[in-house]
Amino acid sequence: MKNWEKNMRQVVPYVPGEQPDEPDMIKLNTNENPYPPAPEVQEALKNLRADSLRLYPDCTAGALVHALAQYHGLSDDQVFVGVGSDEVLALSFLTFFNSKKPILFPDVTYSFYKVWAELFQVPYECPALNEDFEIEPGDYKKENGGVIFPNPNAPTGVVLPLEQIEEIIRSNPDVVVIVDEAYVDFGAVSALPLLDKYDNLLIVRTFSKSRAMAGMRIGYAMGNPKLLQYLSDVKYSFNSYTMDQTALVLGVEALKNEAYFQETLQKINDTREWTKEQLAALGFIFKDSKTNFVFAAHPDYSGEELFKALRAAHIYVRRFAGERVKEYLRITIGTREEMECLVRFLRKYTGSSK
Ligand code: PMP
Repeated sequence: MKNWEKNMRQVVPYVPGEQPDEPDMIKLNTNENPYPPAPEVQEALKNLRADSLRLYPDCTAGALVHALAQYHGLSDDQVFVGVGSDEVLALSFLTFFNSKKPILFPDVTYSFYKVWAELFQVPYECPALNEDFEIEPGDYKKENGGVIFPNPNAPTGVVLPLEQIEEIIRSNPDVVVIVDEAYVDFGAVSALPLLDKYDNLLIVRTFSKSRAMAGMRIGYAMGNPKLLQYLSDVKYSFNSYTMDQTALVLGVEALKNEAYFQETLQKINDTREWTKEQLAALGFIFKDSKTNFVFAAHPDYSGEELFKALRAAHIYVRRFAGERVKEYLRITIGTREEMECLVRFLRKYTGSSK
């Protein structure tokens, strides 16, 4: 080891899902939306002019913040935007989790939480989900430096009812509780109504899944103005111009067409329910997902075997390494045609005549 290497910040990085580019592939590995963003987004893209790129973007992201505040019935100072919810979450770790006590998040959850905790040297503990992959609110009543969990949880897809979310927030008045609602639009109940009651609650959302704009990198947080002021101070101490001009324009457009948004969600949810029926008929086991993915395992085939077989057939799904989850595949809900293709493959592979 070279001497200069002794001063490195060493991290085990988050491993994002692969982004292969094959004409015949079925890509169900990163929870992207199979439908295009709202038509308004396409229209606005046509009107963008290279000349405007001379200028820095609006560092307050004012128009997008305002549009989001209007959309959710909040005031502008209750909204903070960033480059994907990953950036919003990373800045939140840096801003809110500075206690010597460990922060708490589930043992099976979004694997980036652990990476940020390590990166920012935040101590953490991971209470185990119960046998049904549910969060046990009682586990979050011990002393801690903050709490974060997704609702629905990822990669399980399991929802935590609002009363239990409130129980966790109520038990933790002295720390910040972050509810990561990346997948909430697909059928879970949001913690938004609790914002008025709890000034230590931060809700984080993304345009990557339900709004079909993963490529644009837009995420946001909603919370008490004082909380968001701290977040904003950290952002400006790191990079004032986080959101580019294009993201700011297209983000506003994406919020304009509620009918299209609801129609797309309905299609995905219908396909999810159809996929569940098919997977169950083939002998897969899974919890009731209220997201745009299903987390499924088969008692007769290992996760690794199924993952490899699907991959060889150019059907990409996601598999995680942890002991509790290694037999599971996280399968994103694509179009009905894509899911029919997946089911046809699995039916053949498992030799089922159903
Ligand atoms: N939270 C959860 C639970 C996720 O699964 C993801 C997607 N990987 C994110 C946050 C980050 O999404 P993005 O940065 O695309 O907004």
